[in-house]
Amino acid sequence: MRVPGRRRSIVFFTTLGVCLVVLTVVLNVGWILLNWRQVALLVFGIIFFIAIIAGLVLNTTFLVREIRRNEQQDSFLNAVTHELKTPLASIRLYLETLQTREVDADKRREFYDVMMADSDRLLHTVEQVLRAGQISHRGRPRNASPIDLAEMVRSCLDLARIRYHLPADAFRFAESFNGEERAVVTGDEEELRAVVLNLIDNAVKYSGEEVRVTVEVATLDAKHVAVRIIDQGVGIASGELKRVFKRFYRVPGQTMQRVKGTGLGLFIVHSIVKKHGGRVFAESAGEGRGSTFTIQLPGARKQ
Ligand code: ADP
Repeated sequence: MRVPGRRRSIVFFTTLGVCLVVLTVVLNVGWILLNWRQVALLVFGIIFFIAIIAGLVLNTTFLVREIRRNEQQDSFLNAVTHELKTPLASIRLYLETLQTREVDADKRREFYDVMMADSDRLLHTVEQVLRAGQISHRGRPRNASPIDLAEMVRSCLDLARIRYHLPADAFRFAESFNGEERAVVTGDEEELRAVVLNLIDNAVKYSGEEVRVTVEVATLDAKHVAVRIIDQGVGIASGELKRVFKRFYRVPGQTMQRVKGTGLGLFIVHSIVKKHGGRVFAESAGEGRGSTFTIQLPGARKQ
């Protein structure tokens, strides 16, 4: 398998780097002890050795980071290939059946529904990859307009309910506003919808059998609004809470193998929220104990 091979090379390069640094430090100290009388040489020597040590440390860090990145890109490619191939293969199979056999009207409608869901899945994967490719942290949102967050979240929940065939009580929606304020932000509607949909999708995907998701929209103070997506699913270990926002990153383990994904969703969420001047963070009481994702955005001034 490739992954243990990668692990071995990471261990190898880290050990090599550490050994080289130790060797250089020993040489350095030995050299200082031998030449302590010749002050000028000593000073130049020390500077020279420090530069070598710093170079070695940098080099090793860079190597290990590159190996990690390669590893993530590999698993991303595998995931994307799978996400593209599976729905396509399924659509083809249904089309072949429709072409070669007589299918009654009910069955045909069922086939169309499955093909529709598969093509939605394909479209979603392609959109995620395109969006991740276009993303830049810099610059302001291109098509900024005032958006009522509660309204947007409600429509995203309706969409997710249909997409995942969930019962009405799978989602709970709550809003809390300071005084008369609505939670209004100025931003790119399509991008902010993608943010909310990605977080709801994840909450459903990582919930396991029983989906119980609460989404809250709140005005925090005069200047900030928040959306909180709370699930009761597989949870996230504390060491992973920040890493999940990295590009291609998926928490290793059984869930990753069972639940398909590309590791792009949260990277997209993080980039869009940052572009809108906000922040996003994850909280979890630990594995198996649910997760909460919070987006905080600057509120729009009253119109
Ligand atoms: P994907 O879901 O396609 O793998 P994301 O970028 O959306 O990619 O998420 C990155 C990783 O963060 C996921 O692979 C998963 O391990 C973890 N994760 C995201 N959302 C949740 C959640 N609600 N509960 C538990 N783990 C999550």
